[in-house]
Amino acid sequence: MASPSRRFPPWVRKRLPPEGAMRPVRELLRELGLHTVCQSAHCPNACECFARGTATFLILGSVCSRSCAFCAVTRGLPAPPDPDEPRRVAEAAARLGLSHVVVTSVTRDDLPDGGSGHFAATIAAIRAACTAAVEVLTPDFQGSEPCIRRVLEARPDVFNHNVETVPRLYPRVRPQAAYERSIEVLRLAAEAGEGAATKSGLMVGLGESHDEVLAVMRDLRDAGCQALTVGQYLRPSPEHLPVERFVPPEEFDTYQHEAEALGFAAVAAGPFVRSSYHADALAAGLCLAERS
Ligand code: SF4
Repeated sequence: MASPSRRFPPWVRKRLPPEGAMRPVRELLRELGLHTVCQSAHCPNACECFARGTATFLILGSVCSRSCAFCAVTRGLPAPPDPDEPRRVAEAAARLGLSHVVVTSVTRDDLPDGGSGHFAATIAAIRAACTAAVEVLTPDFQGSEPCIRRVLEARPDVFNHNVETVPRLYPRVRPQAAYERSIEVLRLAAEAGEGAATKSGLMVGLGESHDEVLAVMRDLRDAGCQALTVGQYLRPSPEHLPVERFVPPEEFDTYQHEAEALGFAAVAAGPFVRSSYHADALAAGLCLAERS
């Protein structure tokens, strides 16, 4: 395995949009008291996405009940859900004129329903406020079928749950998660028949092998998963897992082709690809408009 690299290669240096490009979205979020994963997780695409008028809403607070080693979200004891939050997310989506809304959350193992009811309420509120397609990026709900069904019954257009990494690295990267459980969450979503397209994503550069990534892709396809994102892991702070390797763009191109050959309907693979990066464009490949 290559030694951890401290230097960013040229392909992971990002040119930032002009100062102030993010301001209107930031101000609206502040006014409505909302969080975005773009800010909470220090996403490298935040400037670009905000400048495009796109934001991934982080519901159920900004404190997570888990402590994944790659994630910059604050860990601790989360506050109770805010019952007015779904309405405010919907208002923000409408005021920003979004055509594709992504809603994600911290993991709420502390709540009896894992936050699934809040997800469903948020989907319903967005549906009532605008015509945007709705993508949810959910936690694993500890594999609870009723929780997953509750979200699906609210009819999101895309049900996304990230496996994040290869199974061998789970104890180090996602110590409170289980690879098989995440695959089963996606299988259930694909089989539930509620019409949502299913999507997953993983980070590379954490010490996984190419074959291990391919095996994950096969597991996802076997589970009925239709869309895939593959991006470079970037360390959010010195307290988080180090980057083992910066994967060169050509290798991402190989992943892209291999995923397409396995039958994924929509694939985005690249150094800056994140689960919700250009989610609207990826969803276009899933022919959402054909859903009843
Ligand atoms: S569960 Fe999600 S939000 Fe919580 S630490 Fe892990 S990746 Fe971050």
